[in-house]
Formats: sequence, C-alpha cells, structure tokens
Amino acid sequence: MDQPYRMRAVVVPLDPTPAQVQLLRSYCGAARFAYNWTVAIAKENWDKRKEERRAGIDEAQLSKSLDWSAWSMTPLWNSVKDEVAPWHHDVTKHAFRSGVTDAATALKNFHESNKGVRKGQSVGFPKFKNRRSKQSFTLIEFKQPGYWFSEDSRHVRLILPLSATDPRIARRREQLRWIHSTESLRRLKKKITSGEWTVQAVTISFTGGHWQASFLVRQYVVPASSAIRMRGPIVGVDLGVKHLATMTVPVKDLSDEHAHIENPRHLDAELDRLAKLDRRLSRCQKGSKNHAKIRKRRQRLHGRISRTRDLHLHRLTTTLAGSFETVVIEDLNLVGMVKKSKKNTVTALRRSILDAGFYELRRQLTYKTEDRGHRVVVVNRFYPSSKLCSHCGETKAKLAISVRVFECNKCGITLDRDVNAARNIRDEGIRLLANEASNVAGHQPETLNAVLRDRETEPPRRGRGDRYQSRTTQPKRELSPLA
Ligand SMILES: [Zn+2]
Repeated sequence: MDQPYRMRAVVVPLDPTPAQVQLLRSYCGAARFAYNWTVAIAKENWDKRKEERRAGIDEAQLSKSLDWSAWSMTPLWNSVKDEVAPWHHDVTKHAFRSGVTDAATALKNFHESNKGVRKGQSVGFPKFKNRRSKQSFTLIEFKQPGYWFSEDSRHVRLILPLSATDPRIARRREQLRWIHSTESLRRLKKKITSGEWTVQAVTISFTGGHWQASFLVRQYVVPASSAIRMRGPIVGVDLGVKHLATMTVPVKDLSDEHAHIENPRHLDAELDRLAKLDRRLSRCQKGSKNHAKIRKRRQRLHGRISRTRDLHLHRLTTTLAGSFETVVIEDLNLVGMVKKSKKNTVTALRRSILDAGFYELRRQLTYKTEDRGHRVVVVNRFYPSSKLCSHCGETKAKLAISVRVFECNKCGITLDRDVNAARNIRDEGIRLLANEASNVAGHQPETLNAVLRDRETEPPRRGRGDRYQSRTTQPKRELSPLA
C-alpha cells in the first residue's frame, strides 16, 4: 500500500571553492546545452511535419513524429553526445540528463496546452536558453539515504564525472567531492538517513547571487485525525501592504500590542536600493563592464530581499501554526493592485512581493499546521473582509485604501482597519467550519488541510483550501445551490 506523503523542498546554502564553482558552472552549461539540443531536434521535426502538412501531404505519409518523452530523448542524446558534445566526459552525465528531462517536460507542457488538456495559461513551444538564463541543474534518482551528506554534516556531495579527461578534475577529485555549506545539515541528514524523508531530486542553482542546493524530499505523513473540532484557539489573519499581517489577537514575540506585524523596515530600505539600481541599470550600456557590475549587485540584492522575506514568512507561519489550532487566512489576488500603482515603485514592489509570498505563506501554514494536527481555513477572495463591520455586520459600499480606521455608520464602532478585517476573516472561518461540520456529518470526512498528492509537482496554486470556496461567499447569485 502506498503511504500518503507530501513533497517538501529544503534549501541548503552552498559555499563552493573556486574550483568547485568552475565545475558547477560547467554542469549548468551542460544542462543548458542538452536542453537546447533536445528543443532543437523536437522543433526541427515539428516544423518539418508542419511544412509537409502545408504542402498537402497525406497524414500517413508525413515524416515520422518524434517521441518527446524523456524516455526516448535520453537514449537519443546518448547516441549523439560523442559527436555534438565531445567534451561530455568532463561533466557528470546527470547534468545532461537534467537538461533533456527539463526539455521533455517543457515539450510535454506545450503539447498538452496545444491540445487543450492543460489547465492555466497557454504554454508556447519551449524557447532556447542562453547564458543569461538561470543557472541550474537537477540530479535525480539517488536512492542511498546517506549519499548526499558528509560525515560532519557540513558538506553536500558534488557528483563528479566518472571518467574526466580534464586533468584539473582528474587530479583533484578528493578536493572537489564535498561542497561546504554555511549551515549545519544535521537535521536534514537525520530525517533522510532515518527514512522519514526520501530525496526525490536535488537542484543545484545559482540563485540571488549565491549557490544553493534545493532538496526535494518526500515526507511521509500520518493523516491527521479526521474529526472536525470546533474548539481550540482560532485566529484570523489579514495580510496587507501597510502591515505584513494583522491578527485578531496579539501574539507574543511576533506582533505589537495592536496585533500588527510590521513590514520589516530594512526591507523598505532594500527595496529603495533595488529601485535605484534598476534605474541605474537602465541607463547603462548593455554588455558594458558597468552593466555587468550593477547586474551582479542587483542579483545579490534580489537574493537578500527574498531571503529576508522568507525569514519573516517562516517566523510568522511557525508561530501561527504553533499557537493556534485553526488559522483563518484570506485568499489574495494582488496582481491587479500592483498594476494600478506602478507610479510608486517601492509600494508596487512590496505588493508584488506580498503577492508572491502569499502562496508560500499558505503552503507553509498548511504543512506546519498539519504537522501539529492543526489546520488552515482559507476564505474566498470575494469576501468583503475590509468593508464589513465586524461588530454589527453592516457593509460599507466603499472604503478607500488610504482610510486606516474603520468607522461603522450603524453601530458607531471605531476600529483599526486591519483589525476589523482580521476579525471578519476569523468569523467567516468559523462559519465555514460550522458549515463543513454539518455538511460532512454522516460520512467520513477527509482531513481539512492535508495536501496529499500523488504527483511530484509544485504546490498547486489552487490548493485544498479552495474546497471551501464553493460553499462560501461567492457573489450572491452563485449561492443558490446551497439555499
Ligand atoms: Zn457596525
């Protein structure tokens, strides 16, 4: 029987030596080379068949179509690599496989999108990668649990080419084998060697000006108790631009006494700096030394900003998941807001960061609450959390974003805008849970927040929380099935 599991990515910062950097770069280049090669032969075949069809050739007479799967592309690559990449001995074969597999995935996405069987935005034919594309490669299928980590838990294995002809590699295998990490890997190593987690893939990339290894692990989870409990502490969280988050109650060591969590101040300063660098970069001559220098600085700053954001998100989600049995959050769509406010770059940036962070926040909250037997409830994005009076339920027709205080015309209550929204979100969450409890009475409910998947993909944008949406505050006319 297949045990339920959950995919999780653990990022490990790497601190490679210059010789290791050289090798990592060549691996990334090799992955890119194999990617482009795969895309090229697929494109050639695709274009040829298109041309033949246009010329009126019968479907049965067309050139044979190429199988785009990694299964058939990889042997094809192996048969030509001596010819097209005579240097392949100096690169691990896994790097090439990474490129071919990625290309096969991109081709599959295009194929499915073209056929109309793929959800979401339409996907075009894969584009070729160039030197400016993200540098990364993925290693898959290493089953031995202890394989990745050194004895001292401070180093990650660097896979070396089996039969390198380059004397720089051949001579220094021992020095190249282990990449130092700036973090202790003891916990990760323990989880993996004990079999609690299994490594599915390791992606090594140059991200935000630094090298990192991202371990994609399969975490076996014990399904939480299926009983829906209505008791236990519950919290509503309003996410925003002014404050990172506002909760219905203050949380020690996390928020101020008004239950606000400030947006990290240094983030603002960094965003200012980023906007400035962007402007400077746009004035530089492309390809010039100055351009390259500023680009590198910008890359590092981007990395720092995303690490700062990650740190704050983790702190927020860990505390919320640990302190409350139920966390109610709002589904967000801030893309529209960002478009509206292009004038103020820093605000727009902050919003886009929040937007990008929202799915991450929800993902983190989901697995962290699940770990503790708690849960997340997601309220529909059409729920008018900021316009509703949390005291008497009166709805305001309009509330400008600049108005920071909610004043009710009916009952006269005066509240901080975000606190009011957080309370509404909490109350809506309670209502949804009550609904859920009465709806599932009589049959075995699934866990509310478990994300149990059978495919190894990124967390879907439409997660489990969406099941609430069908039963909740859709605009009135869509409520009829329940009425
Ligand atoms: Zn009121």
